[in-house]
Amino acid sequence: MSERKEAVEKMTKSAAGHVYWHDGIPALVATHPAPLRKVDVVVIGAGYTGLHAALAALRAGRSVQIVEMHELGWGCSTRNGGQISPSIKPSLAALSRRYGAARAMAIRNEGHDSMAWVGAFIESEGLDCDYQRCGRFHAAHTPAHFDALVSDTEKMGRDEGVLFDVVSRADQHSELGTDAYFGGVVLKQHASLDPAKYFYALLGLVTKAGGAVTDHCPATGISRNGKMFTVSTPKGDISADNVVIATNGYTTDLVPFLQRRVIPIGTYMIATDPLPAPLMDRLFPKNRVVSDSCKVIYYYRPSPDRSRILFGGRVSADETNPAISGPKLHHDMCRIFPELADYGYTHSWTGTVAFTFDTLAHLGQHAGLHYAMGYCGSGIGLASYLGHRLGQQLVGDPDGATAFDNLRFPTRPLYFGKPWFLPSVVRWYRFRDHWQIRRAAAMRRQGT
Ligand SMILES: Cc1cc2nc3c(=O)[nH]c(=O)nc-3n(C[C@H](O)[C@H](O)[C@H](O)COP(=O)(O)OP(=O)(O)OC[C@H]3O[C@@H](n4cnc5c(N)ncnc54)[C@H](O)[C@@H]3O)c2cc1C
Repeated sequence: MSERKEAVEKMTKSAAGHVYWHDGIPALVATHPAPLRKVDVVVIGAGYTGLHAALAALRAGRSVQIVEMHELGWGCSTRNGGQISPSIKPSLAALSRRYGAARAMAIRNEGHDSMAWVGAFIESEGLDCDYQRCGRFHAAHTPAHFDALVSDTEKMGRDEGVLFDVVSRADQHSELGTDAYFGGVVLKQHASLDPAKYFYALLGLVTKAGGAVTDHCPATGISRNGKMFTVSTPKGDISADNVVIATNGYTTDLVPFLQRRVIPIGTYMIATDPLPAPLMDRLFPKNRVVSDSCKVIYYYRPSPDRSRILFGGRVSADETNPAISGPKLHHDMCRIFPELADYGYTHSWTGTVAFTFDTLAHLGQHAGLHYAMGYCGSGIGLASYLGHRLGQQLVGDPDGATAFDNLRFPTRPLYFGKPWFLPSVVRWYRFRDHWQIRRAAAMRRQGT
């Protein structure tokens, strides 16, 4: 084996399964080895959704038991990219066709509000999580995408108050040190944080407010007796007035209605070796978070201390593991930043997000069980915000009302929670993205 190949194999092995964000945080400790027997609210799943719902209920004087099937923070909420966006995928026009103009505008506005809300929450609670209103550079991977991006963003500026700058291809290096794109837009209100520090700080608020938290405690069944629910776990049953399902991409057949409505999708990240400061300054002169216009998008950013690049995307049609996704992400990152070929990566990890058939998050009730989920890959803002609103709804607070309340949550015939159609859809989108990238690269070489 060549020296180079051996080095790459060693790197791949040592990085696989390690989440960059986990390095810095203290152990997340459960407060209760076994769950309480009777509470006002049981929350199933300890991520941003569950913790925010719990916190709102606790602060309104309710008793809350949170059960997490793995260690605390095991889900997406400590392993994401830390990029905060409004998280509403359908455009105003698309939502207007579905729900009418007023509801559509309310949904879009709440997406924007969620981004501002999470920033205000972090600041008012004094949470130490490297929160920054850094803005996002959203890059166009073809000239046609640049035109569409500018026209869509101008419309969002007019209709929704989105603050943005257009960045031409000629000016691109002022935002990002690459020639791989054809310009883009800066979305000024987007922000970033350290997701695991945010989770840790939030957990601290929940336990301080008296929340009972039990890890390695899967909810295995839910039954109803009149107005009361019983949640079964291997560590004992819990009876409660209300149950919150906050399981997002890890939703199981505990509630088949929900499992049939969310599509679990793996997404993958790497963290590079520490990089020289001048190189980071050249590649990320404004410290923005970045995403691009590929259908299977890449998302990346500097680490909060600007020592590394954290690079993410969906690199294969089928679900895979971090030993396989790591080299692929590294390869794709070096297409955008060729100078990174001289550097390796130290962490490679994955997590499962939840998409929905209408590409919208959903909050509501089914058979008396409360839920919020389906953030379609970007839930830092919306999971926090909708989790909070859900907690307010549990305690009858009228401020808990949202434009998401009881929107129809669609499923499809023959879908029972295993997305058999996903590999072919992703394969097609990735083929199309790569074909467009190759064609755009050829245009660049010809100087058009
Ligand atoms: C690699 C990656 C990158 C991402 N990047 C971004 C980003 O940059 N910006 C952004 O906004 N979003 C991003 N996301 C998505 C974001 O992290 C999620 O939308 C958000 O964390 C969802 O929070 P949650 O609390 O709903 O779910 P999670 O944090 O996933 O928590 C759900 C929990 O439920 C638990 N659970 C499931 N079933 C049971 C049961 N029966 N009993 C007990 N517990 C159960 C699971 O173990 C899990 O811990 C990313 C996700 C990943 C994986």
